[in-house]
Amino acid sequence: MTEMVRAAVLVGPRHVDLREFPRPQTGPDDGLLRIEACGICGSDVEQYKGHLGGDRLPSIQGHEPLGIIEEVGERAAKRWGVEPGDRVALEILIPCRTCELCLTGRYMSCRSKRGSYGYSPIASEPSLWGGFAEYVYLHPNAILHKMRKDIPADVAVMFNPMGAGVRWACHLGGLQLGDTVLILGCGQRGIAALIAAKAAGAATVIVTGLERDHAKLALAREFGADHTINVEREDTIERVTEITDGAMADIVLELTPMATQPVIHALQAVRHGGRVVLAGLKGGRTVEMRSDMIINKAITVVGAYGVDSRAYSEAIRIIESGRFPLARMHTHTFPLTDTARAIETLAGEVPGEDAVHVAITPA
Ligand SMILES: [Zn+2]
Ligand SMILES: [Zn+2]
Repeated sequence: MTEMVRAAVLVGPRHVDLREFPRPQTGPDDGLLRIEACGICGSDVEQYKGHLGGDRLPSIQGHEPLGIIEEVGERAAKRWGVEPGDRVALEILIPCRTCELCLTGRYMSCRSKRGSYGYSPIASEPSLWGGFAEYVYLHPNAILHKMRKDIPADVAVMFNPMGAGVRWACHLGGLQLGDTVLILGCGQRGIAALIAAKAAGAATVIVTGLERDHAKLALAREFGADHTINVEREDTIERVTEITDGAMADIVLELTPMATQPVIHALQAVRHGGRVVLAGLKGGRTVEMRSDMIINKAITVVGAYGVDSRAYSEAIRIIESGRFPLARMHTHTFPLTDTARAIETLAGEVPGEDAVHVAITPA
């Protein structure tokens, strides 16, 4: 077969080229995924700007791929439990699956990774390692999650932000029935965490945002946020004190990119003995704080690195339940030829566009 596969290649910072690659030959242990949609998140923006993964360029971006199994080898089909025509969500990491870390469930920190979808360079054959393409190569060690096919692709592809929401609010946040959760930041992951918190039985969820996040905060209320705070007009700590009658939040999720003040807010707004989950990267900036506060309030501070299989699979169940109007969160779909514009739209660089969830579809 001489068919060529189109893919958007990130060549350098803010430089995307549409290129063609030979369709990979598959064997008994691997496969080929026909991309239906691939989500975009803040990491894609950082990567596009050259702040992340720049040492692995050129590469095909897109680490949130959803697609249909086009080809699957006999042994791979058995191992993955899939057949051609099945819809699957693909995890980012391609772990070794045999080291101590992999075998004890910590595969996200596997040191013998075979690659990462959305990041492995095109120099590594067969080049098709990113979701901003017509097809993605399924490495024998890839991690797949089957999904129902009757859900629109731009909603099904939310398995990735929803997975983050589930992991941060429920698994790392340790959410209990009746908890009060404060979510700092109202991007797609803030809203996903709100949905996960509500699904898991949180009694009160408070979401914060900036003045320009007006529409996102309205969306948060639509998804069940009990209170929203415009941090440019209101004092976060005062409002949380007022809402909780001084009890403060059981769990605080800090999801804001770059801003360091919310880290302090998170520690101030959590109750004695509560949990703070840090997931908003600050680009290496220093946070000035008194660490005594963590001791005196007996706070558990957790770093949220990535999403694991358990969170993806629970997120997929939430999506499949149809309980939440997730389509409301999806704002933009772009074709492969508009990859750069898609990323810039999510980044808020396109005037007049208020993006929450953005996806790329090859068609
Ligand atoms: Zn992502
Ligand atoms: Zn490993």
